[in-house]
Amino acid sequence: MKGINKAGKIFHPEPTIIDVNGKKIGSKEIAIIAGPCSVETEEQITSIAEEVKHLGAGFLRGGAFKPRTSPYAFQGLKYEGLELLKRAKEKTGLPIVTELMSPYDIEVFERDVDVIQIGARNMQNFDLLKELGKTTKPILLKRGLSATIEEWIMSAEHIMAGGNENVILCERGIRTFETYTRNTLDLSAVLAAKELTHLPVIVDPSHAAGKWWMVESLSKAAIAVGADGLIIEVHNNPEEALCDGDQSIKPKRFGQLVDDLRKVANAVGRDI
Ligand code: PEP
Ligand code: MN
Repeated sequence: MKGINKAGKIFHPEPTIIDVNGKKIGSKEIAIIAGPCSVETEEQITSIAEEVKHLGAGFLRGGAFKPRTSPYAFQGLKYEGLELLKRAKEKTGLPIVTELMSPYDIEVFERDVDVIQIGARNMQNFDLLKELGKTTKPILLKRGLSATIEEWIMSAEHIMAGGNENVILCERGIRTFETYTRNTLDLSAVLAAKELTHLPVIVDPSHAAGKWWMVESLSKAAIAVGADGLIIEVHNNPEEALCDGDQSIKPKRFGQLVDDLRKVANAVGRDI
């Protein structure tokens, strides 16, 4: 593929392992990131964080700045959300994975966040990507809603060209003619990204399916195909969630899923 330089394997044949406060993404051990779509209250985020940690998650997700299709939908608690994530981290030790939308907030994110998520809608926000190239924080780069694999990898290249080589690719489903599911999970993109780059590749089954009951099977399929990790939406009260309740699984199911995933991981030479 033309244009791949720092993300490609020619000058970097060995797989990149990203260190997040001592926890690894891209190693033999599968990385499990779990938590609600959005941070809602202190009680919500800390109790979900405690549960998912106990059940096997290594990282906590939770949106504070939310890119919503409608300007009238819940936009996230913003800076207050970051404060609540920090409290959940203090209680559990789980590193924070949360979405950055604006270059103006990079300094705050560098200070408060462990993995900066770049959402599908910002995958080709090149000015934002260039600014991220100047940090050393791990970046979780989601695939754009209608981005080709090449475009997705070139976005990683934009971050890496600036000097930040800590990029994790995340397949989260793409827009196809199908409307039954929210998006179409492209598992072949995991294989392609791992063939073309040395970067860790994880899968988000929640945004791919948009349906909670598909999340467990898609998670297993992702690990079977060789993904290095998963980012899964977990909510203790999905019916009342302010965002993405339909695709969120409850902690109990998450616990069972981690146990099942361990068997799939072992079958493909990985650990959880
Ligand atoms: C999210 O992770 O909550 C999110 C908005 O994801 P995406 O950018 O993949 O739609
Ligand atoms: Mn979501």
